[in-house]
Amino acid sequence: MISQTRDIVQKSLDALLEDQSFLPEVKGENRKKAFTSLTSILSTPNHVHKSYLRIPLDDEKVVRIPAFRVQHNNALGPYKGGIRFHESVNEEEVVNLASLMTLKNALHDVPFGGGKGGIILNPREYSEKELHLIARKYVQYFSDILGPDKDIPAPDMGSGEREMDWMMAEYKSIRPGMPYRGSFTGKSVVNGGSLGRREATGKGVFFTFRYLVHNFVKEQKSLLTKTDNVFAKTALDYEDRPLTIAVQGFGNVGSVAALEAHQSTHLQNKVVAVSDRNVTMYNADGLDIPALVEFTMKNKGDLPTEDGQLKEIGVKAKIQERDEVLYLDVDVLMLAALEDQVHKDNVGKVKAGIIVEGANAPITTEADSYLSEKGVIIIPDILANAGGVIVSYFEWLQGRETQFYTEEEVFNLLYDKMKSTLDTVLPLFFGDPFPLRQNCYIHSVMKLSTVLYRQGKLY
Ligand code: GLU
Repeated sequence: MISQTRDIVQKSLDALLEDQSFLPEVKGENRKKAFTSLTSILSTPNHVHKSYLRIPLDDEKVVRIPAFRVQHNNALGPYKGGIRFHESVNEEEVVNLASLMTLKNALHDVPFGGGKGGIILNPREYSEKELHLIARKYVQYFSDILGPDKDIPAPDMGSGEREMDWMMAEYKSIRPGMPYRGSFTGKSVVNGGSLGRREATGKGVFFTFRYLVHNFVKEQKSLLTKTDNVFAKTALDYEDRPLTIAVQGFGNVGSVAALEAHQSTHLQNKVVAVSDRNVTMYNADGLDIPALVEFTMKNKGDLPTEDGQLKEIGVKAKIQERDEVLYLDVDVLMLAALEDQVHKDNVGKVKAGIIVEGANAPITTEADSYLSEKGVIIIPDILANAGGVIVSYFEWLQGRETQFYTEEEVFNLLYDKMKSTLDTVLPLFFGDPFPLRQNCYIHSVMKLSTVLYRQGKLY
């Protein structure tokens, strides 16, 4: 996964080096030098911080839990990105996720740089008291490098409002007098969080898909029919007919995206499958998503695993193997679970023509090339799942101004921001032979390069 980001950054830089209309003032040998600096800046993080959090457990045994904070780049503003609580976290992964944050924020014109944190643990194996201590210790160990104008963490896989509330409280007590509300985002609303933050990523995922397929393609139909671009052909095939959707992952991102799809009845699309860490649920006539969401809320986030449970809540579905969701004969696949889910060994079985990346990096490089060559439209992570960090930015602003927006205002601002990015990248996407991921990267790299050049960092 790490190589994928690097490769595409490199490819984007190669394309820009040849494009003389980009940074025209940098010429000849200086141009080569500037691009070499850019490659090294964008492919390596500024800082990698690592600590072992010393935690006395409930049974008085003491463990040391490895924890990271990676600060990739802050040319556009303070480092920003979530803290992942997961047993498979490792340094390389956090570095890659931090660099994705740099590109994501640049793409959507969010005035933040890129960072990411990680704690190697399975949160299900710890009590609430232990998790509270872990969250506070993380802030104690990294308090020097965090702060509302330095580095602003947020939730990621395995963490949520509860952890952000704990962390902000710890930061407030360590650094009294700081504008503490801006030190963490993704907090609970009552504690200075933003309305709509919890749903923001899932809503943004669905919005990106809806805008591309149901708005953009319709409006640009005459243009798309004229090009022989392979992705334009796929898009036209999806226009104006009800679509079947499968969603991998039923956590904060997948469940909200599925619910959005389910509720957009005017589009006549059907969510026919959802999955989680245990099972895939399938019903060709469409699933009762609200009932499944309600079930997961009462069952520690898990979907039903037995027919009896389905009967109890009146949901009609077939329970299948967990990974079946990836291989169903559906129009659209939303990937909202972990990274590296579609890879060279299973990509041949994927049938969807449009894939939306709700998770970060759910498709490996090889699988990505294979699908793109076939004309599958992949709406990449940095485009599709930016709703979270965009509303984090609104939360940060609201906390600083101590003036709060209504939920409607938040979602309108979110959609405006995503729409403006989509309107920038989509015409280029259908106009040239690059996959959408590469288009997005080129846009981010262009923005970062220009800023780095103006800041005098390319000499
Ligand atoms: N963890 C989320 C992401 O990967 C949100 C980050 C944030 O809000 O800062 O985009």
